[in-house]
Amino acid sequence: MSCNCGSGKSYASCCEIAHQDITQVKTAEQLMRSRYTAFTLAYGDYLMESHHVSTRPLSEKAEIVAWAKSVEWDKLEVKSTNKGLENDKEGTVKFKAHFKENGKQRFIKENSKFIKENGVWYYLGLA
Ligand SMILES: [Zn+2]
Repeated sequence: MSCNCGSGKSYASCCEIAHQDITQVKTAEQLMRSRYTAFTLAYGDYLMESHHVSTRPLSEKAEIVAWAKSVEWDKLEVKSTNKGLENDKEGTVKFKAHFKENGKQRFIKENSKFIKENGVWYYLGLA
């Protein structure tokens, strides 16, 4: 199957690598893509694991998973990135995620902030 993040690669050679071992994620964009794909798969454990502990919404996990399952995910557009490469400790990614909710076309547009701690990238929140 081709990866839901729209990279053009197979899931096995794209976001599945991150989902199986987050320490394999090299860049902020790769983490961002893996989180989008985790939303499309309603993969709550990974959404929590990839969220920095300081902002991790553990108490909302069940709601997040229920919502992720309730919408129809269309596609991800990565608009731009700033830093977030292998040798960086932080970075931002601007993206637009398209989905249908209750039959209506909707999107989330966000400039996300990512930080790397002990070699692992995490989503922090809005940049
Ligand atoms: Zn992917």
